[in-house]
Amino acid sequence: MVEKYDALVIGGGVAGMESALVLADAGYKVLLVEKSPSIGGKMAELSKVFPTTDCAGCIISPKIAATSKHPNIKMMTYSEVKEIYKEDEGKFKVKVLKRPRYIDEDACIGCQRCEYACPVLVPDEYNYGLVARKAAYIYFAMASPRIAQIDLDNCILCGRCERVCPTEAVNFLQQPEELEFEVKAVILATGFKPFDAALKTEYGYGKYPNVIHALEMERLLAPSRPYNAVLRPSDGKIPDKVAWVLCVGSRDKSLGNPICSRVCCMYSAKQAILFSAAQLLADLTVYYMDIRAFGKGFEEFYNMAEDMGIRFVKGKVAKIEETENNNLIVRVENFETGEIEEEEYDMVVLAIGLLANSDVIKVFKNVNVELDPYGFINQFDVNANPVLTNVKGVFVAGCASGPKDIPDSIVEAGAAAAQCIDYLYELGYKISKVETAEPEGVVSGK
Ligand SMILES: Cc1cc2nc3c(=O)[nH]c(=O)nc-3n(C[C@H](O)[C@H](O)[C@H](O)COP(=O)(O)OP(=O)(O)OC[C@H]3O[C@@H](n4cnc5c(N)ncnc54)[C@H](O)[C@@H]3O)c2cc1C
Repeated sequence: MVEKYDALVIGGGVAGMESALVLADAGYKVLLVEKSPSIGGKMAELSKVFPTTDCAGCIISPKIAATSKHPNIKMMTYSEVKEIYKEDEGKFKVKVLKRPRYIDEDACIGCQRCEYACPVLVPDEYNYGLVARKAAYIYFAMASPRIAQIDLDNCILCGRCERVCPTEAVNFLQQPEELEFEVKAVILATGFKPFDAALKTEYGYGKYPNVIHALEMERLLAPSRPYNAVLRPSDGKIPDKVAWVLCVGSRDKSLGNPICSRVCCMYSAKQAILFSAAQLLADLTVYYMDIRAFGKGFEEFYNMAEDMGIRFVKGKVAKIEETENNNLIVRVENFETGEIEEEEYDMVVLAIGLLANSDVIKVFKNVNVELDPYGFINQFDVNANPVLTNVKGVFVAGCASGPKDIPDSIVEAGAAAAQCIDYLYELGYKISKVETAEPEGVVSGK
C-alpha cells in the first residue's frame, strides 16, 4: 500500500527542518527527503553565526535532533525525489529513490568500528577535502541519522568493516530502492549552490593552494574543525596576514549573477573577527565593493570588526598572483584613492556567492514550477505572499527562493508551513493524527 503524508518537504537544511517541525508540531504527517547522508544543510558546516558569533553547531543540533525524533516526521536521507505528479488539488504522487549505503540502517548502531577498521583514505567532502575520511564512514560527527555508509567507488573490498561490525550491518549487496508515496502538499527547501570559485580564473582558486573559499574557511574556524588552528594549505603554516575578497560570483554580470548574495559581507566580517580573536596579532584585510550591513545588529558587528583592527578597503580586486613561497599578491583598484595597489598575503579567502539550486523543478512531471530570472524558485506573489509558487499546493522556503541568512530562512520556513496548513485546511483536510514529541505541557525545544 502507498504510504500517505500531509506534506512532502524536499531538502533537510535549516529551512526544510523548520517547515517540517512546524507542520509536525501542528499534528501533520511529514515526509522529509534529503539527498545527502544527513540532515543539517549548510548550517551544519558553519563555524559560528553573525552577528552574535554563537556556535552554529550548537544552534542547529537541537533542531536536527527534534527533526530526527519527531513521531510525525518520516526522514529519508541519502534519497532523492525522482518524480512528482499532481493528480488533483491536495493529491501529489511521489517517487523517491533511496540510494544504498551498503549498511543495514536498522542494524547500524553508529559505533564507527567499520570506520576505524577501514584502511582507505579519500578526501572528506564535508571538510572540503581539507582532511581525509575513510571509505566506510559516518558523514560528520553530529550527522543524523548516525548511520555509517560505504563509498563503494573507493572501497577495496577488503572486508575489514564486515568483520568488525558488531551487528552484522554491512551488506555489499544492497540495491537502490524506489518507493512511492502520496502527499497533499509540497514544500521546496533545496537551498543554494555555492559559486564555484575556480570560475573566477583571475583569482587562481584551484591553482594557488593558499587561495581558499569561504566555506573552507568556515570549516577551518569551526569548533569541530579538522585541525586545532587555521593552517594554510601549502605548508601548514599559521597565516599572519590574510585577505578576504568579497563579491566572488555575486554582483558580477560577467559571470551571469548580477544579484547580491546578502550574507557575504557579514560572514566575511565574522570570519575575520573569529580569526582575529584566535590570533591577536594577525594582519587582516577585507576588500569590498559596498558593505551591506542591512540587518539588526549588522552595522554594529561591522563596526566591531573595524574596532578590532580589521582593515576594510573599498576596492575591486583585479587579480591574484602567487610568489615563489606560495604567498599571494593581491592587485586592487582602491576606489577611495583611485590608485592601483598591490599587497602580499599569506592566504586569501574568496567570499563566494549563493547561487540557485533549482534542479528539483525537473521532478514535476505534469506541472511547471516557475523560476525567477536568476534561476531561484519564483516567489509567485513576492510582495503579498512570498512563500507561494505558481503551482497551488507547492510552497518554497529558505535559500531555494533566493539568497538569505539563517534567521530569514527560518522565518520563511515557518511561513511556508503556515501557508501549507492553510491550503490543507481549505481543502477540508483534518490533521491525520495528532502526536507530539514531548509530553503535554512541555514547550517544544525548537
Ligand atoms: C560561507 C558561508 C557562511 C555563512 N554564514 C552565515 C552566518 O554566519 N549566519 C547566517 O545567518 N547565514 C550564514 N550563511 C547563510 C546560510 O548558510 C543560509 O542562510 C542557510 O544555509 C539557508 O538554509 P536552507 O535550508 O535554505 O539551505 P541549505 O543550507 O542549502 O540546505 C538545503 C538542503 O537541501 C538539500 N537538497 C538540495 N537539493 C535537494 C534535492 N533535490 N533533494 C533533496 N535534498 C536536496 C541539500 O543537501 C541541503 O541539505 C552562510 C553562507 C555561506 C556560504
